[in-house]
Amino acid sequence: MNTPKILVSACLLGCPARYDGQSKPVNHPLLQRWHANGWLVPYCPEQAGGLPTPRPAAEIQQDGRVMTGEGKDVTSAFLKGAEQALALCQQQKIKYALLKESSPSCGSHDIYDGQFRGRKIQGEGITAHLLKAHGIRIFSEQQIDELFTTLS
Ligand code: SF4
Repeated sequence: MNTPKILVSACLLGCPARYDGQSKPVNHPLLQRWHANGWLVPYCPEQAGGLPTPRPAAEIQQDGRVMTGEGKDVTSAFLKGAEQALALCQQQKIKYALLKESSPSCGSHDIYDGQFRGRKIQGEGITAHLLKAHGIRIFSEQQIDELFTTLS
């Protein structure tokens, strides 16, 4: 197997980076092994974009902007975090990312519908979309075994 670097949503590794100040740790033996091997590069695009933790929940709107539930436009911070993620991947030659599903930054298959009513729709977060557009393969936390197969 190669010894790749994998960009990982920091919250999946137990970092309390989420909007609510919590984490979403994934207890998977492969992830633990990769972490011990030094393959993982933890990253939170929303924190990197300058947003505080905790912070208001935000969702992507139909026009592409990212808004909080209180109506504040936070698109520029989301874009900044995404661009820094891409720069990090390019600097470190990272070709794979394991990103938290459903997040407006990290979601790779579904996101919330923009109405703040807990409904998901098919779509990608801002960072996942930018990385994918630049050839980085994105996997969600439900696809760790698939990522393993890809690396093998
Ligand atoms: S932006 Fe991504 S890494 Fe940061 S807390 Fe949300 S899902 Fe996790």
